[in-house]
Amino acid sequence: MSEKSQRLEIVTPQRKVFSEDVKFLVAPGTDGELGILPEHAPLITSLNIGVLRIQQDRDFIKVVVSGGFMEVRNSRVTVLATSAERADEIDVARAEKAKKRAEDRLAAKAADLDVLRAELALKRAIMRLRAANDK
Ligand code: ATP
Repeated sequence: MSEKSQRLEIVTPQRKVFSEDVKFLVAPGTDGELGILPEHAPLITSLNIGVLRIQQDRDFIKVVVSGGFMEVRNSRVTVLATSAERADEIDVARAEKAKKRAEDRLAAKAADLDVLRAELALKRAIMRLRAANDK
């Protein structure tokens, strides 16, 4: 693998979640997973709710993103995410509650149920649990 690095910045409307040099990352693009090495061709893509995997040395760090955009240019990768949490920041009990709440809503099928909203909440919770339980 190349010894070159690239700068990865992950920001949300609230805060800067990550700003470090990384060797490699895999992002949940809406058209599929995207692996980015230094000197990758410029691109802009939208992101799904999913887990961004970041390689610095040998280990991978996981960051859950709740959708957004990613820009790659001149070995700088910028992720603008609706929300984002590193795996070690995730409150597992909170994510479990959110998962149960969404599942219950989808099962109850109330007349005024916003199905898409419940499905997105469920997906965020599942991704948070996946990242937190698989460090
Ligand atoms: P909840 O119903 O528990 O609020 P949510 O999916 O609706 O979950 P979001 O709207 O995606 O929450 O996020 C609101 C804020 O809370 C964001 O800053 C996000 O990073 C943070 N957040 C949400 N869930 C967790 C969690 N399980 N652990 C840590 N931070 C979380």
